[in-house]
Formats: sequence, structure tokens, C-alpha cells
Amino acid sequence: MNDSMVAQQSTDDSTLIHEEPDYEVVVIGAGVGGIYQIKRLIDLGVNATVLEGDPDLGGTWYRNRYPGARFDSESFTYGYSWDQEVLDQWHWKEMFSPQPETLKYLNFVADKFGLRDHMQFNCYVEKMIFDENACVWSLSLKDGREITSRFVLTAIGLLSVPTLPRIEGIDSYKGEAFHTFDWPKEPLDLEGKRVAVIGTGATAIQLIPEVAKEAEHLTVFQRRANWAAPLNNSEISEEEMTEIRKRYDEIFATCARTPGGFEHEPDRRGFYSVPEEERRELWDRLYDGPGFGIWLQNFVEIFMDEDANAEFSEYIAERIRARVDDPELAEKLIPKDHGFGIQRVPLETNYFEAYNRDNVSFVDGSETPIQRITETGVQTSDEHYEFDVIVYATGFDAFTGAFDRIDIRGVDGQSLRDKWSEGPVTYLGLLVHGFPNLIMISGPQTAATNFPRGAELAVNWATELLEHLWDSNKGRIEATPAAEQSWFDHVAKMYEPFLLRKAQSWITGYNSNLDGHEYGKTRYNIYNGGGPKYADRLQEETQEGYSGISIE
Ligand code: NAP
Repeated sequence: MNDSMVAQQSTDDSTLIHEEPDYEVVVIGAGVGGIYQIKRLIDLGVNATVLEGDPDLGGTWYRNRYPGARFDSESFTYGYSWDQEVLDQWHWKEMFSPQPETLKYLNFVADKFGLRDHMQFNCYVEKMIFDENACVWSLSLKDGREITSRFVLTAIGLLSVPTLPRIEGIDSYKGEAFHTFDWPKEPLDLEGKRVAVIGTGATAIQLIPEVAKEAEHLTVFQRRANWAAPLNNSEISEEEMTEIRKRYDEIFATCARTPGGFEHEPDRRGFYSVPEEERRELWDRLYDGPGFGIWLQNFVEIFMDEDANAEFSEYIAERIRARVDDPELAEKLIPKDHGFGIQRVPLETNYFEAYNRDNVSFVDGSETPIQRITETGVQTSDEHYEFDVIVYATGFDAFTGAFDRIDIRGVDGQSLRDKWSEGPVTYLGLLVHGFPNLIMISGPQTAATNFPRGAELAVNWATELLEHLWDSNKGRIEATPAAEQSWFDHVAKMYEPFLLRKAQSWITGYNSNLDGHEYGKTRYNIYNGGGPKYADRLQEETQEGYSGISIE
């Protein structure tokens, strides 16, 4: 620890203005990223704590308790890679772990290393101000406490601020209604209930088949159709788990090599050099295979070339038609406004078959849009529907929402919310000019990958940077404006080759329920260059002695 961490003198009146801060590092968020970050800091003997707004750890896996919530990543590629005992001891029961088991896993890891002792729950951070003289952050918590810390590391998630739809009358509804992110902790009995699900994103697509099994009647309100493909989940036996354990080194090496951080490697043979018949053979295999293979083991041209994308989209459309009994309904479930894979692909288990059930109805918002929520249900342009429960599967204020809801003030009182009003601007997705000593774990403009693979990369990089500071007796870091601009330009440029640039989804910033997130207005939320290029760039930054960061 250096002298600057002890006591600071005000530059103007020489009065002592700050004692040693309460903490050297505050980590905000006890989810996948925050758990690993605190482990690294504790191992280094740093005075650090985690502030978590929820009553317990788990982040996204604490909150998303809706029926059907589970990984879309193969479980063994999602788990932490950094502790041999955890790898040896934990048995993933399913190829795609359901939420309760994942939450158990995160608790298992936290308890194994005594990490709870370094976490404070129900500690919602409302405001953070950087005190330039003292070079510390002052954090104001909802419970009225004030905490100071030299560094703040945010691990607050990409999809942690739910957005309810802006529909007239939403507060007038007298039945039970909630966003999927706020699914009740106590078991909810849907038997004999008339249930509405509004939205058909990845969350709804997991939820709908489960609700259909239980509710007396389910009505799905779709505004725009979403492509989806089978998850093809399976159980993992003891023997299979033993084999997986033997392969862990190889598994993580493959994840580090592939753009998405999965075992799925893109097919680089060239879409047009493979005959049509062979293309279809590949697609048949992938459609019947597990997880994101159908998306990420596909020809790379699918992501870039309109014709290749159209041919593949038509293949998926045929598969949907074969699964939905009513041909007219099948057409409504097939997106016409975008091709397969240019938005985040939801994976499903019997989603399309759910519409073949007698107790499931479908309302097409492009024909009969929702006009308002009433005291008893939903009024569309042609009919009133009565419900006992309304579930809003209407998505999130993605990427920047979790930052925006904290009033973050950097140098000269500048607000991060204002700086990012048109979308995020960062250096490497980790730092922001004007906001010293703030490091974002899995912030906007990092590589879009299998979440923990990117989070581990960010935690390791951030910890190494902090160690560098402590070793060199420094106490302040800030991205330079030139480095930030250059990263932003690169991130924006990396949208150009991909059809993703045309997508209207949370990844590109679209959310009809938020001002400034209008249809057609792109926010550069992710780095599209893939995990390996991103990891190389981080390594380069370290090896070049942090040339994009001013260190004092
Ligand atoms: P989403 O993809 O943003 O979907 C929101 C849905 O709500 C869309 O169908 C949207 O329609 C609809 N909607 C929003 N506002 C509406 C309104 N005012 N009226 C009618 N419909 C409205 O959100 P999500 O489904 O929660 O998924 C977000 C992301 O979370 C996923 O893409 C994924 O990355 C992650 N997720 C991951 C997993 C997993 O890993 N297993 C599971 C679930 C979710 P429009 O399309 O017309 O906007």
C-alpha cells in the first residue's frame, strides 16, 4: 500500500480532508463476476468488500427464478475455470443447468472460499462521487450509509435492470403482475389460472412452455417474432462428468480460442464452396445438436452475407413450420423483419410445440396491438382478455441501465449517465475517461462471449492492473481521451461487416420502453471482434505498460 492511500491533504486550504478510505476496493455486485473478483482481492490480502443490492449472492441467477430459466451455455463451459478443486468437486447435473442448480453452484463456490464474509447484502449503491483531492470514491447507500473506497469495481451485469412496458393503464391492473426478473421467490401456483405472457424474447421463449404445462390457459402477446432453435438439453451422468473433468483444460482452451467463448467453433469452409446439400446436412446436424451450435458452428457468412443469411433463415423457417400444427400461426412465429442469428438467438425446449396445445392462445401484436392494461386484463385493438396473472417478459435496460441507475459523478462532477446518454463510450469496456479508479467488470463494449469466460478475463486484467499500481506506489488510474476515442471508433467499425448492425434488439440498444433507445438508433454496446482478439488487445495494453491509461 502506498502513502497516497493513507491520508490526503487538500490542495487549497491544507486541511486534512480524508482519512484512509474505508476500503481499498469496493466491488459492486455479487454475481458471477463479483464473486471471482472478491476472491482475487482477498487472496492478495486487499481490504475489499462486495456491496450487493439483493438480499443474497448470485446476481442474474438470484433474480431470474422464472420457470424454465436455465443456461444457454453448456454448463461446464459456464463454470469458473480458476480452481481445480471446484472443477473436481462440482457435478453439473444437466448439460444446460437450470437456475436453482446454478444458484447452488455459486453458493458452493462462495462458501468454499468463505467469500460471504466479504459481502454485504441489501446494500444498494445509489450514488458515487469521485473526490479528486482525496482520490477516493464516496458511495452513498440506500440505507443511508456512506462508504469510501480508493477503487470501485463494478460487476453489475448487462441485463440487471428490467423494463416494464410503457402501456397505458399498467398500474390499474388488480391481479398479480410482475416482470420475469421479479418472479416471486415463494412458489407460485399457476394451476387453474389464466396467465398472460407479454413478450417473446429469450426469457419468454424459456418460460412459455413451462407456464403452458401448468396454467389453465396461457395467452402469449407477441409484438415481433423472434427466431429460436432447440436447446437439446440432456442430463449429465457421473461417468460423463468424469470424462468432462478430464477434458477441462481442453474445454477452457477451446473457449479461449473461439469468438464466442464456447466449444462451438465457426465453420470456415466457406458457405459458397460447400454444396447446398452439404450445407443442409450440416444444418440438420446442428439443429439436432445441443446449444448454440446452430448459431456459432455455422458458416461465418451467415452473420455477414444477406443471401447466405436468407438461405439459412428459410431453413429454420421450414423447421418451425414442421413443428407448429396451424400453418397460419407458424407464419406468425417466423420473423420477417430480420434474419436468423443477427439478434441474440433464444434457445428453446418445446417452445413451438406449446402453441399446439389447446390451453395456449396467441395474439399477434402486429395485427391487433395491445392498447392498454385494464383492471382485469389486456385490451387489444379488437378484444379484451381477462387474466389472473400477467407476466411481463419485456426485457432490460441493457448494458448501461445498471450504471444509469447509480448517480455516478467523476472528475468535476461529470455524470456518467450524461456522458453515456447516446450510448456507452469506454476504453476497452473496462475504463471511462473522466471516471478515475473505476473499473468495469463485463461493462459495455467488452467482447460478447459466454459470460463467465469474458468476466474471468476482465477480473484477471483488472486485478493485474491494480497489482501494478500497488507495486509501483501509485493510486490513480484514468483512461486517456485519445485511447478511449480510438477504442470507441474501433468498436463502431466492427459493426460494419456484420448484419447485426441492422438488428433492433437490446444488443444494439433498442428498447421501446426507454427514452433514447428508439428503433433504428444504434448504440455500440458490444465489441464484435470476438473473445480471442479482445483478450489479445488486453494483453497488448498490459505489455505496452498501459499506454492508454494515465497512471499517477
Ligand atoms: P428481450 O430479448 O429484450 O425481449 C423482450 C420482449 O418483450 C420482446 O419480444 C419485445 O418485443 C417484447 N416487448 C418489449 N416491450 C414491449 C411492449 N411495450 N409491448 C409488447 N411487447 C414488448 O428480453 P429477454 O427475453 O428478457 O432477453 C434478454 C436477454 O437476456 C436475452 O437475449 C439473453 O441474452 C438473456 N437471457 C439469457 C438466457 C440464458 O442464457 N439462458 C435466458 C433468458 C434471457 P419486440 O421484439 O417487438 O421489441
